[in-house]
Amino acid sequence: MNRKYFYKNYFEARNKFIELSKKNKFEQENYKIEKNLTIDVSFKKTNKDKLIIFLSGVHGVEGYLGSGFQNLFLDKFFQKNKNKSSVLLIHSLNPYGYANNRRYNKNNVDLNRNNIENFKNVKNINPKYTEIFRNLLPVYNPKNTNFFTVYFYYYIKLFLQMIKYAPSDVINASGFGQNIDSKSVCYCGNKKEKETLILENILKKHTKEFKKVIFVDIHSGSARKYEIATYTNYPEDSKEIKLIKKIWKNTKSRFTKARAMNHIGSVEDSFYKNCKSKEKYDITLEYGTILRFSMIMSLSYLARLLVIENSIYNRKKKRKYKKIKRRMKEAYFPEDETYYLFFKKRTSKFIKRIYKYF
Ligand SMILES: [Zn+2]
Repeated sequence: MNRKYFYKNYFEARNKFIELSKKNKFEQENYKIEKNLTIDVSFKKTNKDKLIIFLSGVHGVEGYLGSGFQNLFLDKFFQKNKNKSSVLLIHSLNPYGYANNRRYNKNNVDLNRNNIENFKNVKNINPKYTEIFRNLLPVYNPKNTNFFTVYFYYYIKLFLQMIKYAPSDVINASGFGQNIDSKSVCYCGNKKEKETLILENILKKHTKEFKKVIFVDIHSGSARKYEIATYTNYPEDSKEIKLIKKIWKNTKSRFTKARAMNHIGSVEDSFYKNCKSKEKYDITLEYGTILRFSMIMSLSYLARLLVIENSIYNRKKKRKYKKIKRRMKEAYFPEDETYYLFFKKRTSKFIKRIYKYF
């Protein structure tokens, strides 16, 4: 029963999204990425001052949860609240990644690191990355590696680097985004990707005229299972943070605030650049999916999985790719009843409160 808003794959989820959007009389737009892969946009103007944006699937495989969020919203919450705010839904910004259970797009670009204006002027966006990682992990020479080597090096060498540098330096350097290794993780790309340009257009086109806009970017993975980590660009004492605190009041959500400083080229950067409204808010939701003893262990499990997936993806002969794809799906989208229940309860609360306080 609780599985209702979750689907086997990208195609089923997209069809359901389009069906529910039409049922609620949303205007529809479809942007083709390739063959049968599209970014689907639903827009409904019901309030002239306020706009709520829900974005899903920036990191492809995280689209399972993001799409579930949007479909639950369309089915249960839109009609009841429709006069309170206009709504813009962007379904699966990275359809290639969603359809193939990977975080990055076909060109191996992390779309949440790609919203950068000055690619040409910056030779090395992340010198710390070069210092700590480059030529260290065999992942960066995928053709010379095997599965065992990736595991082995990942643990041993990473451990050694943790001793040499502060662990926070290692973590920040790996997640910040880099433009040195096109076959490695968190690659920013060397130009704006097609998906990035499409997002810019959507934001420019639909955010005009509104006084207040809130941008909710839905991710999964990087938090402990049954917790939602929430991030925003604003400092502790801002009105934006107050809004988030009201939304999560009396729930077990982990609330953090430093996201924008941890990496470059985020989709939030695109939102701030392309939305011209006076009042702007952003919220990133991370639905935690990994259960380990500690937060660090949960995150390092995910990081290792990403490194392995990436390494296999970039090899010519993709041995064991099926297996890793299945593990990626399991890691970003836990298919068990308890999780569905957690998801539905928490998401419903979030949506109700965003209508109440925004
Ligand atoms: Zn993500």
